Amino acid sequence: MTPTNRVAIVTGASRGIGAAIARRLAHDGLTVIVNYAGSADAAARLVDEIERSGGRAISCQADVGDPQAVRRMFDAAEAAYGGVDVLVNNAGIMNLAPLAQADDASFDQTIAVNLKGTFNGLREAAKRLRDGGRIVNFSSSVVGLYQPGYGVYAASKAAVEALTHILAKELGPRGITVNAVAPGPVATELFLSGKDQATLDRITQMNPLGRLGEVDDIAGVVALLVGPDGGWINGQILRANGGVV
Ligand code: NDP
Repeated sequence: MTPTNRVAIVTGASRGIGAAIARRLAHDGLTVIVNYAGSADAAARLVDEIERSGGRAISCQADVGDPQAVRRMFDAAEAAYGGVDVLVNNAGIMNLAPLAQADDASFDQTIAVNLKGTFNGLREAAKRLRDGGRIVNFSSSVVGLYQPGYGVYAASKAAVEALTHILAKELGPRGITVNAVAPGPVATELFLSGKDQATLDRITQMNPLGRLGEVDDIAGVVALLVGPDGGWINGQILRANGGVV
């Protein structure tokens, strides 16, 4: 690990893909703000693990859907480390239902976290990221697969893709890149929850590489976008999914 002076906020980093991204960026020498909504213990354990491996991290509770909380998270990062260079807008939720059965509460919650939560981070980053920074949003390969039941979730992620393209053009003059990663199925709680073995087998068989994604498959893509070799990639949606679409 070569320590750098770069500081990264990773939203939704207590578990799943976000935790793998936090570990990987810390390993690559970045100082990491491990954001979480409710899993304080898991976030604290991850910070501990990163520090024991020689990295630098702090945890920060913030519901990304709350603009004040997101502002306070940037304040905390600036107070602790002097500035922010990287925002990984990873926090997200998934509620599946055919449109006929989709209820208002789950629609509102999905939009609040996936779209408004991403927007809250982007607006703050657009004002406060240091020049030369990097932003990575999270879409999904369901924007492309269009499977039944994924309507509201896919719509929230399609909106994230639109924000990605536009903010890349707005922030380009400051040398800040804005991209999105669109994973296919990755073995995390978000994906596995509520699926029986037959469904998991069917989804696995849909993939040309014959397996589900692992969290490190996605963390590696984020590390590329954030790292020295990713600087010429801008305004792109990278579908990291083993070729399923
Ligand atoms: P998990 O459910 O495993 O983890 C979700 C993380 O997001 C947790 O750390 C959780 O924090 C956090 N989170 C949830 N709501 C909020 C909130 N309001 N504010 C702050 N943090 C919040 O999800 P994954 O790791 O699977 O997903 C990560 C991203 O990847 C999401 O954007 C998802 O849509 C996307 N994605 C995932 C795919 C998959 O197959 N897994 C496929 C395509 C895209 P806490 O623990 O505190 O609740």
